[in-house]
Amino acid sequence: MASASETSPDPAGDPPDAPTESALETALRQLRSAADHLDVDANIVERLKHPTKVEEVTVPVARDDGTVEVFTGYRAQHDSVRGPYKGGLRYHPDVTRDECVGLAMWMTWKCAVMDLPFGGAKGGVAVDPKALSRAEKERLTRRFTQELRTVIGPNQDIPAPDMGTDPQTMAWVMDAYSMQEGETIPGVVTGKPPVVGGSEGRAEAPGRSVALITRLACEQYDRHLDETTVAVQGYGSVGANAARLLDEWGATVVAVSDVNGAMYDPDGIETAAVPSHDEEPEAVTTDADRVISNDELLTLDVDVLIPAALGNVITKANAEAVAADIVVEGANGPITSTADSLLAARDVAVLPDILANAGGVTVSYFEWLQDINRRAWSLERVNDELEAEMEAAWRAVRAEFERRDVTWREAAYIVALSRIADAHDARGLWP
Ligand code: GLU
Repeated sequence: MASASETSPDPAGDPPDAPTESALETALRQLRSAADHLDVDANIVERLKHPTKVEEVTVPVARDDGTVEVFTGYRAQHDSVRGPYKGGLRYHPDVTRDECVGLAMWMTWKCAVMDLPFGGAKGGVAVDPKALSRAEKERLTRRFTQELRTVIGPNQDIPAPDMGTDPQTMAWVMDAYSMQEGETIPGVVTGKPPVVGGSEGRAEAPGRSVALITRLACEQYDRHLDETTVAVQGYGSVGANAARLLDEWGATVVAVSDVNGAMYDPDGIETAAVPSHDEEPEAVTTDADRVISNDELLTLDVDVLIPAALGNVITKANAEAVAADIVVEGANGPITSTADSLLAARDVAVLPDILANAGGVTVSYFEWLQDINRRAWSLERVNDELEAEMEAAWRAVRAEFERRDVTWREAAYIVALSRIADAHDARGLWP
């Protein structure tokens, strides 16, 4: 939740931390900062400050008790110079127009840093999905899809799962769209169950890319994984998959957490034995010998910290206490901008979300290719190609990091913006 406000009182007695920037403000600031490092036409930067289109729709839903509740939904399409719009749909009470625009911009950068032929979009409905029955969620999804039908499509804008939505939600989107179009169109949405054209490995992909980027970052800083300690906040799909892979590759995962707190074992946790959120919700601490709080997890003396739960968890209030040398962003926007500057001043290597968790949209791209070709790939092929794409993106970002005096985040934005700006330059402004 990049838009959640940062209200922690400052322990030093200074004025409280400035209110956290909204996702849109952060996206605009990051755009300006990347543009400062590049010789980009100011007119192109100006265009990138605005979404191409934001569709706002009303979504009436019949509740199980027969009453009708009316929700508001959005689809923000930021930029499509490199290909169709791409990005998730989230169901969350904090969804707003501006949040969708900011998150759509992040998707533009994420797709560009991965060199995928997609632009950026994000959408969602302002609703608490936990307050809906399965049948209500299905009705909401089908009606929302119908309202967005003219702006989405396999060559136009391709949604995917995000906070509060899952493969089943995507199957309903695919079905509702296909029923209206009169033909089965699996490529309209990614992150579907494999049985209806979803890709093997898609659900695990964001966690796998976080693990791959962690491994590459450790190599960069001459750390052997078998001598590396790791703490992971969040044990949902991103956190659990990242933790288990790093464990498998030899790292010592000393802490993992869910909303109730963290299991902590300095000798290393057997991550496969800890139930992920999908396997059994909120069960991480059930069999733990030692439980610490989520706040304590963030400041553990480990080599690598992976915040993979929520946005804005590393703030001005706790950034100085972060003891890890490497932070890999599993969630979108887990570090506030003030905290980001504090970590940069201490030379903590922060591997940004738009690179680290980009495995999700990368395997979405593979899924879209499989849907268009009507031919499924094996899990092995998906994982091999994902690794190749992550390594290529890593090399591009590392080249900028080593060439300029910038952070990893700035280097990733520089790679993304230069690709987008070159495409705008080549296509020009019409008419
Ligand atoms: N919602 C995911 C993200 O933030 C995936 C988007 C996609 O696969 O299109 O990257």
